[in-house]
Amino acid sequence: MRTTVGIIGAGPAGLLLARLLHNAGIDSVVLEGRDRAYVEQRQRAGILEQGTVDVLRAAGAGERMDREGLRHDGIELRHDRKRHRVDFPALTGGRSVMVYAQTEVCKDLIALQLKEGGPLLFGAEALAVEGADTDSPRVRFRQEGHEGNDDVLECDYVVGCDGSWGVARKAIPAELVQVFERTYPFGWLGILADVAPSHDELVYARHDRGFALLSMRSPSVSRLYLQVPEGTDAEEWSDDEIWAELERRFETADGWRLERGPITQKSVTPMRSYVHEPMRHGRLFLAGDAAHIVPPTGAKGLNLAVGDVVTFAKALTHQKDTGSAELLDAYSETCLRRVWQAERFSYDMTTLLHRAPDATPFEDRLQVARLERLATSTAAETDLAEGYTGFPFE
Ligand SMILES: Cc1cc2nc3c(=O)[nH]c(=O)nc-3n(C[C@H](O)[C@H](O)[C@H](O)COP(=O)(O)OP(=O)(O)OC[C@H]3O[C@@H](n4cnc5c(N)ncnc54)[C@H](O)[C@@H]3O)c2cc1C
Repeated sequence: MRTTVGIIGAGPAGLLLARLLHNAGIDSVVLEGRDRAYVEQRQRAGILEQGTVDVLRAAGAGERMDREGLRHDGIELRHDRKRHRVDFPALTGGRSVMVYAQTEVCKDLIALQLKEGGPLLFGAEALAVEGADTDSPRVRFRQEGHEGNDDVLECDYVVGCDGSWGVARKAIPAELVQVFERTYPFGWLGILADVAPSHDELVYARHDRGFALLSMRSPSVSRLYLQVPEGTDAEEWSDDEIWAELERRFETADGWRLERGPITQKSVTPMRSYVHEPMRHGRLFLAGDAAHIVPPTGAKGLNLAVGDVVTFAKALTHQKDTGSAELLDAYSETCLRRVWQAERFSYDMTTLLHRAPDATPFEDRLQVARLERLATSTAAETDLAEGYTGFPFE
């Protein structure tokens, strides 16, 4: 099999890239190791930055998002039973975010790809990228039902959109790679509950017992998170214990109430910051979680993946139109500038709101001082609002 761009992975990065290339008249093949139902049901991101919303619309993939997504003009910060709203449009010249689940973004992009785009192969697991530093890189892969019989996808370019455990980045020689990493001594216990969200915007709460986040997937489905110690098993927590702990951490002095409902899913996510440099080697490019991870506090992971594939699609289109590889050559540096801003923002949000197990009273007071500063300084609030609604694509 032969194509111009071989894409490994059908998460948001791989699927959107296939769509952008299709719109630019460039052919591609997407290889996805799992089946369609798995990709469409994996609960993860839910907040789309303004720039991501604009890109999905321009790519012709925004119709259902505009109908069913929930535009949010702010978030609420809570600590010491007090609440403070950050108003995004007022602070950023009109920018906002959209609550629309990653599962739905993937469903929309898969439907478009199968209807109008190039091949999207499910159950096709990439085993290795070969010849990354030659003019004709290849992806060796295995399709379900073809065991013992590897296939090869011959390409002009390969883009590894295969997430944090993918194979693409292994094709970059170790001596050229630098990895920057931090793991946090806590995770998020996340639940989905069949109950209307108790607040119409996201609520980020700092509490002496740990962080809590109120979020939503739709007007009738709540998504809530609790900071828990690293290595916690979700089954250790009964539904009643989860609700009681959420109530404690979200409590306010003005009698606000958290509505309970049936919990339909619970899982624990570890918290990690990770950057793999460079994001390109020869004709192999990395995009999304394959190259970088952020703790979910800043809601940046999916949005960074979008930034990477927009940068790649633009660079390849530029090369096709002008013959110049200058933007492709600059891919890694261009993406990393935005990646590091998102790493910084996600780190700031994480350390602002979570309580480390070994936090000292001094650090506790500093956290509260940072939150008080956000509640009283337009400059501090503007910085948060700009970071949350998203850094511009270059
Ligand atoms: C609990 C949680 C909450 C989050 N909240 C947010 C949020 O609010 N906002 C936000 O922006 N981000 C959030 N994120 C992060 C976001 O979900 C990820 O950054 C995003 O999924 C990255 O997309 P991706 O396409 O790069 O990778 P993935 O979504 O991981 O997709 C990679 C794909 O590659 C496939 N694959 C892997 N290896 C192979 C192989 N060898 N061959 C073929 N296919 C392969 C995988 O099956 C997968 O489908 C959250 C993450 C979690 C876990």
